Amino acid sequence: MNIILLGPPGAGKGTQASFIVELKKVPHISTGDIFRQNIKEGTKLGVEAQSYMDKGLLVPDEVVVKLVEDRLNWQDTKGGFMLDGFPRTLTQAEALEEALSKIQKRIDVVLNIAVDANLLIDRITGRRICKNCGATLHAKYNPPSKEGVCDKCAGALYQRDDDKEETVKKRLVEYESKTQPLIDFYRQKGVLVNIDGQRGIKEVAQEIFEALKQ
Ligand code: ADP
Ligand code: ADP
Ligand code: ZN
Repeated sequence: MNIILLGPPGAGKGTQASFIVELKKVPHISTGDIFRQNIKEGTKLGVEAQSYMDKGLLVPDEVVVKLVEDRLNWQDTKGGFMLDGFPRTLTQAEALEEALSKIQKRIDVVLNIAVDANLLIDRITGRRICKNCGATLHAKYNPPSKEGVCDKCAGALYQRDDDKEETVKKRLVEYESKTQPLIDFYRQKGVLVNIDGQRGIKEVAQEIFEALKQ
């Protein structure tokens, strides 16, 4: 199954992705994670991406499209894949359609995780990530048993630089102007499924599981 996770920053895409990969056994392709990995390694791509990410802006389409096209050629995507945080603009969505049609593939389902803007700031500013295993927790909504320490691997938890309130506001503006139009794009293609992302993590996961059974 070829899945896209759509939704504003902080909607819970990454959190739900970790459940979906277990269920569907497909690789989790997060463009944000790929950029952060490149930043950590100090690659040319990382340096370029960081200059946009720090400002809360989207990385230019041609950079992201190239990256995803390459990633979709890996062997592990043969039995399906899940895209998280891509596409984020109409240009990216159209480039993806074209790239997939060349390899006789298509998107089966787009899970649109909907959350009101007023909840998102709280979710993002409270987000904490494990330095070691990448697990995502939340200071209030999904707290670790010991403050600052990952439950899974005891790694140290940190806050992403772009998760500070000022940058978050810019990211939400980018989402509304550039990413939101994708909801209609995929609705017209008949693959959109709306998920109520305002409920608890487990309830949202349940709704997604039901949607993926259809
Ligand atoms: P979130 O889901 O919280 O917005 P991500 O990890 O998906 O976070 O993305 C972090 C940042 O990486 C974005 O703000 C943007 O700068 C960049 N980015 C990730 N995916 C894309 C994309 N498809 N197009 C452009 N920029 C992207
Ligand atoms: P995204 O990948 O869409 O940016 P994340 O999955 O990283 O979002 O979630 C953002 C923050 O909100 C994280 O700290 C996460 O633990 C928390 N979170 C995710 N889903 C929920 C939920 N349904 N209710 C409350 N908090 C949530
Ligand atoms: Zn960890």
